[in-house]
Amino acid sequence: MQKLRIAIQKSGRLSEKSIQLLNDCGISVSNGNRTLLASGKNFPVEILYLRDDDIPGYIEDGVADVGILGENVVLEKGNDLIVISRLSFARCRMSIAIPRGEEYTGPEYLQGKRIATSYPRILRRYLDENNIKADIHEILGSVEIAPSIGLSGAIFDIVSTGSTLLSNGLKEVEVVLKSEAVLVSGKNLAPEKQAILDKLMFRLNSVMKGRTNRYVLLNAPNDSLQKIVDIIPGMKSPTIVPLAEEGWSAVHSVISEDRFWEVIDQLKEAGAQGILVIPIEKMVN
Ligand code: ATP
Ligand code: ZN
Repeated sequence: MQKLRIAIQKSGRLSEKSIQLLNDCGISVSNGNRTLLASGKNFPVEILYLRDDDIPGYIEDGVADVGILGENVVLEKGNDLIVISRLSFARCRMSIAIPRGEEYTGPEYLQGKRIATSYPRILRRYLDENNIKADIHEILGSVEIAPSIGLSGAIFDIVSTGSTLLSNGLKEVEVVLKSEAVLVSGKNLAPEKQAILDKLMFRLNSVMKGRTNRYVLLNAPNDSLQKIVDIIPGMKSPTIVPLAEEGWSAVHSVISEDRFWEVIDQLKEAGAQGILVIPIEKMVN
């Protein structure tokens, strides 16, 4: 029987969350310590453990069918990949940084400068879009030390907290890209593999939806029920159950995580009490 071959990062910032996501989809996956290739135990997939930079090439060559990797790597290295789903982890930004003492005047500051990076393609595109002619100097690691050793006047690199920049005397002046982990596939999957991918996507969407929503339970006096139902309409409509105490009901519903605090305040104002918020494991529509 055909198996869908999924490439994930062997060890690094993407590994643990990639494995967790597949596990949440009911596919038990080991951590790749001793193997390059492992079979999923209860779903027709094989897991290929690779360096993240190698994943685009393996998919384009048809050795792997789909992969989980940072969007930054897809944009830099993936010529023929389709982004199927954004995965909301491994968030980071890619920015231009310059020595802290310099005054930044906008993208034209970079005109004629030399910029060190491991991501020449993404940087080239940004510079072209802004009509800047600059010299891109590609280096593989420790990009942040380039200005202090006189190699370049600016850098373009991944930033998460900015503390690496700070300790190298640099300041972030331009955010070029916001990246997160994505699921990608090659073009032209065989129909059997596409069918497995469709099943996987159904599970993945349920898990992703569960992660971004919360189950809410609360008590409210009956005369404020309508107000509360308007605030948290839920998937279809909220469940309302009478409490033992006369004139009171319990309301159960679902809210999206990013509306959470705003909604909680509104619910309290409307008369809700004893509000419980519970994570959702999976959500299937
Ligand atoms: P590999 O050995 O597989 O080549 P790597 O060193 O290139 O690993 P990691 O540092 O593990 O890669 O980062 C993998 C991805 O995680 C990055 O490409 C990026 O998408 C994302 N990421 C999120 N936050 C950060 C961060 N603070 N620094 C670097 N990458 C980050
Ligand atoms: Zn890498």
